[in-house]
Amino acid sequence: MSILAISAYTLWIDRLDTWQGAERSSRNVLTAIAQDLTSDLELLDLSLKGVMEARRIVGFENLAPDIQYRLLFDRAASVTFMGSLLVVNESGGLMADAGPVIASRDLNVADRDYFKIHKENNHIGLYVSRPFKSKIRKDDFSIGISRRLSRPNGSFEGVVMGSMPLSDINQLFKDLSLGQEGAINLFRSDGILLTRHPFDAAQVNQDFGSSPHVQRLLQGRSGTFESISPIDGVRRIISFERLDRYPLVLTVALSVDEIFATWRRKALVLGVLTAALCSAVVGLTFLFQSELRRRTRAETKLRRIARTDDLSGLPNRRGFRETFEREWRQAIRSGSSLSLLYVDVDWFKSFNDQYGHGRGDEVLRTIAGTLDASIRRPRDVAARYGGEEFAVVLPDTDLAGALIIAESIRKAILALGIIHEGSPYQFVTVSIGAASARPARGSNGSYLQEASDRALYDAKAAGRNCIRPPAADEIGSPRRHLQDMIS
Ligand code: GH3
Ligand code: MG
Ligand code: MG
Repeated sequence: MSILAISAYTLWIDRLDTWQGAERSSRNVLTAIAQDLTSDLELLDLSLKGVMEARRIVGFENLAPDIQYRLLFDRAASVTFMGSLLVVNESGGLMADAGPVIASRDLNVADRDYFKIHKENNHIGLYVSRPFKSKIRKDDFSIGISRRLSRPNGSFEGVVMGSMPLSDINQLFKDLSLGQEGAINLFRSDGILLTRHPFDAAQVNQDFGSSPHVQRLLQGRSGTFESISPIDGVRRIISFERLDRYPLVLTVALSVDEIFATWRRKALVLGVLTAALCSAVVGLTFLFQSELRRRTRAETKLRRIARTDDLSGLPNRRGFRETFEREWRQAIRSGSSLSLLYVDVDWFKSFNDQYGHGRGDEVLRTIAGTLDASIRRPRDVAARYGGEEFAVVLPDTDLAGALIIAESIRKAILALGIIHEGSPYQFVTVSIGAASARPARGSNGSYLQEASDRALYDAKAAGRNCIRPPAADEIGSPRRHLQDMIS
């Protein structure tokens, strides 16, 4: 999960960076173009104003035509891209012109939007026309920047118009690297598309004023947003800026697909690697888990084997010790009695000598089975203490109870009727030492074991095939108890 989170976070940050980089570079492009365009428009407007000023010179009409021409178009020489500079009269007829191509004398522009606007309004100032096909330079798209010529009494006298070929404006955009799907648009502030790069004659002069996308950029001064273009349907990051003194809005749009192409490749590689890494981690975890389970099973089995006696199947000495210590602690906690029997086969050495070791083992197995069958409670445990000696742990059992069980064991083994000619009883018998304690807090169980051991010794001494409790003076004697406390 952490690996996934880190990868996702890295990619996300990277995506933000990419976005911001794209935004920055489109704003830079935008600022540069806006400055170029503004200064070109200024120059053109200056030449329009030059024409207007020249016409106001007293006695202008009486000057020689070449002087008139020079006065009119004095400032036009500095204009960078110019189609034509026209001065037309109140009916749209050509009065004077300047430009690379000489206009025909019977040219009339009365049908142009800029002419009609100025004719009908005297407060327009500078007007930017819709794109039109030039009448002078065949089929060349242009826009016109125009001002009204008025008589001193304010009546309409004509129009002065400078045209800018769209191909010249587009020249500004050509060297910018905006990718395959990048676009630059120049809108008039009412939503008419004046020109765009890459150029598309079908889109130019269209009114996008009703498109929400275009409305968004017509309303603000500048900004950046993401949108699907109504012109070609490509999703782009669009930066826009309104020109300071002109009713124009410039946009630079970069294709989102292109901006994130590199990022997407990186995301794919990182994604695949992360997925591979995570799968490896998950795979290894499962492997590790199953290995751990296998080991735990093996260890559990080993632990059981280590506590089990091979011959009899009973717990061995280690198993006995653990059971005894656990029950001792339990007896301390519950304040109950714990009894311990030591069971030793009588004259077993001579049994082995007479019947063989194999037969001896068989008998030990039988005795073990009999012991196990003689105890009833779930927590009672019979163990093979060593050789032909067994121990029986009896929780919650006092000495009286322990003696009863011991007796039943002794009888059960005798009842097996295993012939043992070396024994005065003629059968295999056992001697049992029994002891019981109610352990005090902080004591350990060794004194109970010693007491059982001594009782067993007593039983042996008493002739075997019998049971003995601890000697009367032993259990509960102050001396024993003191020793217990010290140990
Ligand atoms: P007693 O206990 O009555 O005093 O006599 P004993 O002969 O049983 O005494 P001792 O403890 O001296 O001998 C124990 C004998 O038990 C020694 C060995 O021959 C026999 N023995 C111990 N372990 C095994 C075993 O695993 N298999 C067989 N077959 N015999 C064993
Ligand atoms: Mg013995
Ligand atoms: Mg013995």
